[in-house]
Amino acid sequence: MTKPVVAIVGRPNVGKSTIFNRIVGERISIVEDVPGVTRDRIYSSAEWLTHEFNMIDTGGIEIGDEPFLDQIRQQAEIAIDEADVIIFLANGREGVTAADEVVAKILYRSSKPVVLGVNKVDNPEMRELVYDFYSLGFGEPYPISGSHGLGLGDLLDDVVKHFKQEEEEDYDDEVIKFSLIGRPNVGKSSLVNALLGEDRVIVSNMAGTTRDAVDSSYSYDGQDYVIIDTAGMRKKGKVYETTEKYSVLRALRAIERSDVVLVVIDGDEGIIEQDKKIAGYAHDAGRAVIIVVNKWDAVEKDEKTMNKWEKNIRDHFQFLDYAPIVFLSALTKKRIHTLLPMINVASENHSMRVQSSVLNEVVMDAVAMNPTPTDNGKRLRIYYATQVAVKPPTFVVFVNDPELMHFSYERFLENRIRDAFGFEGTPIRIIARARK
Ligand code: GDP
Ligand code: GDP
Repeated sequence: MTKPVVAIVGRPNVGKSTIFNRIVGERISIVEDVPGVTRDRIYSSAEWLTHEFNMIDTGGIEIGDEPFLDQIRQQAEIAIDEADVIIFLANGREGVTAADEVVAKILYRSSKPVVLGVNKVDNPEMRELVYDFYSLGFGEPYPISGSHGLGLGDLLDDVVKHFKQEEEEDYDDEVIKFSLIGRPNVGKSSLVNALLGEDRVIVSNMAGTTRDAVDSSYSYDGQDYVIIDTAGMRKKGKVYETTEKYSVLRALRAIERSDVVLVVIDGDEGIIEQDKKIAGYAHDAGRAVIIVVNKWDAVEKDEKTMNKWEKNIRDHFQFLDYAPIVFLSALTKKRIHTLLPMINVASENHSMRVQSSVLNEVVMDAVAMNPTPTDNGKRLRIYYATQVAVKPPTFVVFVNDPELMHFSYERFLENRIRDAFGFEGTPIRIIARARK
């Protein structure tokens, strides 16, 4: 399922990031606890009533040293390109400004629905401030207060009304969707070409369903694949396309639509912070992950090089200890042929279901081997475990008190489950729940 995307635009200081945080709520990320990984809050999943969607805060996308007006112009263009519905935000206390009108003019040119929010209307007496904003031409302006959380319900009711056919399936369930993620020039396009060429496959470029993404679908050895379009792989020549934040945004969008994510690293340059950040998103999103070290031909090697690299990657990507690593070269095509089998395995594990009886044996054996933790004399008791979901495999463990399930014990259980069932390439989730 492709979730609709909602973008917030507006000039600086109207309250975009405040509203963004209100709407996405506090989403705790495991990866954020990893030292050195800080999260850019420009893209996040959100929900309202029964609707799930993704949110973009375009204000978080800075475009080099462009002058102020060009920045907001381009942010509005990003919203038009990337979103299904746009929230145009203004500041009720300042009335309609020239910069608001600049944003409005750009939004007129698009056919995307626009919902106008007038922020900083902190109390009912201030509601008349919105009248000025009818002049922007987007219909009824919604008075809201990001600081106080007022009026957001009405605004979001209007936003979700514009969603089209959310249930629309992208592709068949049997198709494996994967994407190649990594910063510019690591060799993503070359890898795609090497894959497609090597396997003498039938390639068809299909126009994406809801947006203008271009996916490549092909089959090999009886298996259908779709390569999800990624930043840097389609070059349209817009100014903002070269900015780091925008390429991160595109990567997140691709991750969202994938079953398996190939995190591509440049063997010639090594690991940088952004690699870690993007890999962290793939992990958080619950996608299967394969780490691909490309340009291995350009690396000066001795017999220890690969081990050193492997250790280095494991140190940097501790949260991805389940991800297989492959060293290859798109240029010489060395080990390219190992990639599709790996993708198959990761995808199979990502949707693997285990039997409850076997799962419970594994969990009870684990408890016998390593007694559950206690807190203030109270011991964690585990009654029963069951798998509740796939993609990624998710297990609910019924216990006496979920507070007693420490991270380290959860980790221990995860490792026992992995030892028993494999799950290479996929994250798994364990949720402790109180037995009623
Ligand atoms: P952005 O630049 O558009 O992302 O704006 P921010 O979310 O950073 O907010 C700019 C400033 O406006 C901050 O000081 C916020 O605390 C403040 N602010 C945001 N929403 C409201 C609101 O509803 N009422 C008032 N009074 N201040 C707000
Ligand atoms: P993208 O921006 O990630 O799609 O990267 P490209 O596929 O455009 O590749 C960037 C540059 O790296 C190009 O000059 C490629 O020829 C080069 N390149 C890609 N793969 C390899 C490789 O395996 N080895 C070497 N030596 N160069 C490569």
